[in-house]
Amino acid sequence: MVTGELLKELTRLLTPLEAREILSAAAGIDRETLFCKMQDALSEEAASKARAMLERRLAGEPLQYILGEWDFYSRIFKVEKGVLIPREDTEVLVDEALALVDKSGAGSLLDLCTGSGCVAVTLALERPAMQVTAADISETALSLARANAASLGAVNCRVIYADVLSDPPEELWGCFDLVTANPPYIKSGDIPHLQREVTFEPSLALDGGADGLIFYRAIASRWKKVLKRGGSLALEIGIGQDRDVLEILAQNGFSSLSAARDTAGINRVIVGTLNV
Ligand code: GLN
Repeated sequence: MVTGELLKELTRLLTPLEAREILSAAAGIDRETLFCKMQDALSEEAASKARAMLERRLAGEPLQYILGEWDFYSRIFKVEKGVLIPREDTEVLVDEALALVDKSGAGSLLDLCTGSGCVAVTLALERPAMQVTAADISETALSLARANAASLGAVNCRVIYADVLSDPPEELWGCFDLVTANPPYIKSGDIPHLQREVTFEPSLALDGGADGLIFYRAIASRWKKVLKRGGSLALEIGIGQDRDVLEILAQNGFSSLSAARDTAGINRVIVGTLNV
């Protein structure tokens, strides 16, 4: 079969982007090279790989899990079922964290609920002089974050187990200039009604309790202990959670509070500094 013919077949059922991603992944070539190969014959093996990937996509599985990798902040991260897929919205968290690091000269950062490690590894690579710790409760996430740190060469990023809903271990108290997190923030009651693709992602990474805010309360009250004097917190939030999260931070002694918008104009990241 000729490559261009299969691309046409895939494009009838998928978006053009999905069709191109699947075909180039199945053929083991990048997207640009794919365009130069439209008239070339495609191996039987590549064609059947592409069709198997198509079936998974038609069953609702997110493209990112099918490809096993996805871009975040211009780098390619491994993704894996059982761990949240990196999203473009979360790049706002990286930008806000970088601004804080540069303003305060932060030397140490803790990223809670790290998942794939996309935030922690990106920050470690963007600011190589900083010591980054990435933490998660999920064993699948921990090994994926370690794999991403290793394959992208983030030697200044270590990965540790932590349960954010419990108190931080004493050895972490007062250790960090900055804490970042994209915690689970969907209300438990909304989980069954999510878009089909999102139901393939682990509820452990999505479910923020009855009001969607339990992780913000735990981070602002329990985990502020890990901050140094004058340290800051940068948290990704869901749509419409800005007021509640600002209030939670204020109640827990944070000031200089601000919100940053995503590309859709929605307040996506809340930043605050712990009063000394
Ligand atoms: N941004 C994700 C979504 O809306 C949720 C991720 C999270 O809970 N942190 O699908």
